[in-house]
Amino acid sequence: MENVDAIVIGAGFGGLGAALTLAERGARVVLMEALTYPGGCASTFTKHGHRFEAGATLFGGFDEGQLFARWITRHGLDVRLDRLDPVISFRAPGLAIDVPPDRAALVDRFCALPDAPAPAIRAFFAEQARVADALWPAFDDPGLLPPFAPGALTAHTLRLPALAGLVRHLGRPLSVMLARHGLLGFRPLVAWLDAMCQITVQVGVREAESPLALAAIDFCFRGTRHVHGGIGRLAEAMTGAVQTLGGSVRFACRAKGLARDGDAWVVDGRDGGVRAPIVVANLLPQAISGLLGASVPRLDALAARVADGWSAAMLYLVVDPDAPALPGPHHLELVQDLERPFLDGNHLFCSVGGRDEAASEGAVTTGRTVTVSTHFPVSRIRGASSEEQAAAVATVQDHMLTGLRALAPDLAAGVRETFPASPRTFARFTRRPEGLVGGIPRRAGLHHYRDLWPSAVLPGLWMVGDSVFPGQSTLATAIGGIKVAEAALAAR
Ligand SMILES: Cc1cc2nc3c(=O)[nH]c(=O)nc-3n(C[C@H](O)[C@H](O)[C@H](O)COP(=O)(O)OP(=O)(O)OC[C@H]3O[C@@H](n4cnc5c(N)ncnc54)[C@H](O)[C@@H]3O)c2cc1C
Repeated sequence: MENVDAIVIGAGFGGLGAALTLAERGARVVLMEALTYPGGCASTFTKHGHRFEAGATLFGGFDEGQLFARWITRHGLDVRLDRLDPVISFRAPGLAIDVPPDRAALVDRFCALPDAPAPAIRAFFAEQARVADALWPAFDDPGLLPPFAPGALTAHTLRLPALAGLVRHLGRPLSVMLARHGLLGFRPLVAWLDAMCQITVQVGVREAESPLALAAIDFCFRGTRHVHGGIGRLAEAMTGAVQTLGGSVRFACRAKGLARDGDAWVVDGRDGGVRAPIVVANLLPQAISGLLGASVPRLDALAARVADGWSAAMLYLVVDPDAPALPGPHHLELVQDLERPFLDGNHLFCSVGGRDEAASEGAVTTGRTVTVSTHFPVSRIRGASSEEQAAAVATVQDHMLTGLRALAPDLAAGVRETFPASPRTFARFTRRPEGLVGGIPRRAGLHHYRDLWPSAVLPGLWMVGDSVFPGQSTLATAIGGIKVAEAALAAR
């Protein structure tokens, strides 16, 4: 039996953050990944010679001093980053807002809209900035998380006045703050906020936990980049860094079982068992229970909250390289009907690769790749037959195409190939039960602040990924990976 210091199951960004941190601290680490490439929901796959972003397409944390920038410098990671301006083009019937990479310019754009209540908009964003500025340092410096750790406490003492301002927002939906500023009736702002909240905290302003939403609104302003050639390049570079530090990265190596063996764990993988005192599982809680073959109350409780969330319906497109007017990579956020829920194809996130990223060799057609996603509630197809599920997803995908034709006609007219994907596709490729890819929706409530400190599920068994703190996104899961790795090493 092979014995190591730590095993990480899954090379999503949570697992990558954990494996890299463990290797940096000198631990002998084995990283097992079921697929033949890393990244999970934030990976890049090849089909018909084209490289598609599987899910995630737009990434924060690349400004100097931020996490990904630090890793790139420290490990000499070979990734090219493209700056974006606009970061996102938001489109709805009668509404077009190009979101620039800085807040002040966006505020000016909202204030310039017809009938805009400019003083209220400026006051809202001033308050939003105070909350975001209080919370984001913890993302830039994971040492500030969790807030009650000894080192973090000293730093937080200096920032107490800023943090005190958060109290009025805790446990409340963002709509309360919008109402206080008299802005609930200003449709362009509420529509954009609904869209931003849906892609970050996974629910709209009437449900979103205010402090988390206010921080997430800054997503476009905090070192946000396109990774040239796809986010898979960063994931691959990170696995390379793990290997350079002596770690063993095993692709096509699915963990099939997890069992206690004395004071360690044995993970049953492709070539037999690997034994280690630390196991970090980059999996949904329901998947960990499956590997253990046993129910653990904490995992069961978490699994119920994940199950209340989302999967995604996808369209992966190959388009005429000249069809989208912009030559560089860009992102469109489209809403067909502002009065209907932002899901099921009514709300689309559409990411277009750059002209210079278009496939040239080995591709059946030449063209730029486009990843289009929409939120899809898993509860709606739970228990349905496979035919019923397929029909429900196909209806949503048709609606997605209708939205593209209406709101991005140049792009829709240039489509050469279409590959649809569903919750079942995500279940197959990410091995997430039911294709649940949305993390835990951040609905208003104090429960979000209960589990800020990483703690083992069982002795030596730790969890990373978007169902645990700090939650969804490549940056958040990577930060979670660092914190869990450090806590696991400290616990030994
Ligand atoms: C459609 C969509 C769009 C998104 N857009 C963005 C965006 O633009 N920006 C952003 O920052 N975030 C975005 N996100 C969120 C982000 O992608 C996720 O929060 C994050 O990537 C999740 O990482 P993770 O580590 O939790 O898990 P995963 O990415 O799911 O990684 C888990 C890994 O474990 C592997 N695995 C599973 N079971 C086993 C097993 N038994 N043995 C071995 N390996 C196993 C899987 O193959 C996978 O590689 C998006 C997500 C989706 C679905």
